[in-house]
Amino acid sequence: MSDKYDVIVIGAGPGGYVAAIKAAQLGLKTACVESWTSEDGKKQVLGGTCLNVGCIPSKALLEISHKYEEAQHSYADQGIELSDVKINVGKMMERKAGIVGQLTMGIAGLFKSNGVTSIHGHGKLLANKQVEVTDKDGKTRVYEADNVIIASGSKPIEIPPAPFDGEYIVDSEGALEFDEVPKRLGVIGAGVIGLELGSVWARLGSEVTVLEALDTFLPAVDQQVAKEALKQFTKQGLDVKLGTRMTNAEVKRKLVYVDYEDSKGKEQLKFDKLIVAVGRRPNTENLLAADSGVNLDERGFIFVDDQCKTDAPGVWAIGDVVRGPMLAHKASEEGVMVAERIAGNKPQVNYDAIPSVIYTAPEVAWVGKTEEQVKAEGEAYKVGTFPFAANGRAMAANATAGLVKIIACEKTDRVLGLHIVGPQASEIVAQGVIALEFGSSAEDLALTCFAHPTLSEAVHEAALAVDGGAIHIANRRKKK
Ligand code: FAD
Ligand code: AMP
Repeated sequence: MSDKYDVIVIGAGPGGYVAAIKAAQLGLKTACVESWTSEDGKKQVLGGTCLNVGCIPSKALLEISHKYEEAQHSYADQGIELSDVKINVGKMMERKAGIVGQLTMGIAGLFKSNGVTSIHGHGKLLANKQVEVTDKDGKTRVYEADNVIIASGSKPIEIPPAPFDGEYIVDSEGALEFDEVPKRLGVIGAGVIGLELGSVWARLGSEVTVLEALDTFLPAVDQQVAKEALKQFTKQGLDVKLGTRMTNAEVKRKLVYVDYEDSKGKEQLKFDKLIVAVGRRPNTENLLAADSGVNLDERGFIFVDDQCKTDAPGVWAIGDVVRGPMLAHKASEEGVMVAERIAGNKPQVNYDAIPSVIYTAPEVAWVGKTEEQVKAEGEAYKVGTFPFAANGRAMAANATAGLVKIIACEKTDRVLGLHIVGPQASEIVAQGVIALEFGSSAEDLALTCFAHPTLSEAVHEAALAVDGGAIHIANRRKKK
């Protein structure tokens, strides 16, 4: 086969593999370069961070640990009596590996059925849209393309006070691989990843302490929702210490000693394991030749415009390696947009309607603007909230913690944001995404018929509450 392609994609995570499949579906001769190799060194592994060490394995552990916690603590209240509930960590990890294996193999199948050529090796962009691929034996080969899409993703940030050792001080990947439940677990960083992984091990029995340098819990989240989430996490035993900066971590006699500073001074804690989850950085190592024409921004991300074009004509970049939220679905949407644009179509990602989720229990999910953002912008707004405690389905499911909050423009009634902390928030938030995409008003949602009894009725009631018309709760705002 010739080494010239219409499109070469570098990276087969949710940005890259989706872009490659879409480009092939649009009739473009497409190849995808991926360097990830199986542990035995024999096979290429597709799917990137998301499928291998991110979204999917973390959700497998979240689901299993949630079931275990329910079986231990809340089944008895519901009339289910179990004795001797035990967690088998080895079996749990086997199941997680099985799910990952099935999905990553599935991508190989999708590449085949769509006609995407998969190239195993490390890709480097040279000048004039040439891609040099170095295989695992160090051999190089240069491919040419009319368009190159860079989707090289991101990596955990390692900080000097707590270098990863892969055993006691670990990143998010290591935290998905513990072979037993640590008795005392420290987590540095109360971001999405720290909270999700901390809550997995807390449910399985670890005493979890989360150290967070900032004074505000989840500053990017609507603060009414963030406060409710913190209340629930604390109730579950997660000890979140805000305004607490970790300054040093050291392993001595199989324990991690962590020094930190807070408003009261310097303290030390000891843990059996420490997860460092202080963010991720773009993956650009040995990716761009000096004359590739692609530039980085001041934070080290590949610089792109709103359509993911880099400074080099015909070279695009998507996903975690560019600005914007580090989310799998954002990466995939950008992949589709770029493939379509290469094929001559003109779609645009709506960056204002990308949902975010924290997969804890209860889950936290949101789309659009927070109340703090709307207030800061000086826009007149109105708010409707509805608690899950007043929702029949949530009661039946024994999951009444949390609320739905809708923010709408005072003048036009247009929905500006939907914020949820509660059961199935990750599913319910899709209704807010659709409302934002369609420019829906709160009244549009209020006049829509929702099935009963469902958790989604909380969205309906919050929309009704925007104008003081909620049925199943006393209204704060009088109906006009
Ligand atoms: P990646 O998935 O990082 O893929 C990049 C790929 O490129 C990798 O396979 C890498 O090997 C390859 N590569 C890099 N450089 C080269 C090169 N030079 N040559 C060849 N190949 C190369 N997001 C969500 O939306 N929902 C979640 O629930 C969620 N949970 C997460 C949980 C954890 C623990 C973590 C760590 C992340 C989570 N994320 C989640 C984030 C999500 O995984 C990323 O946003 C997503 O994977 C980004 O996709 P991507 O395609 O840009 O990059
Ligand atoms: P995120 O970027 O959402 O993954 O969150 C990472 C969190 O880690 C941020 O909220 C940071 O404030 C926090 N963080 C970074 N360094 C430290 C540190 N040394 N001690 C405690 N928290 C930290």
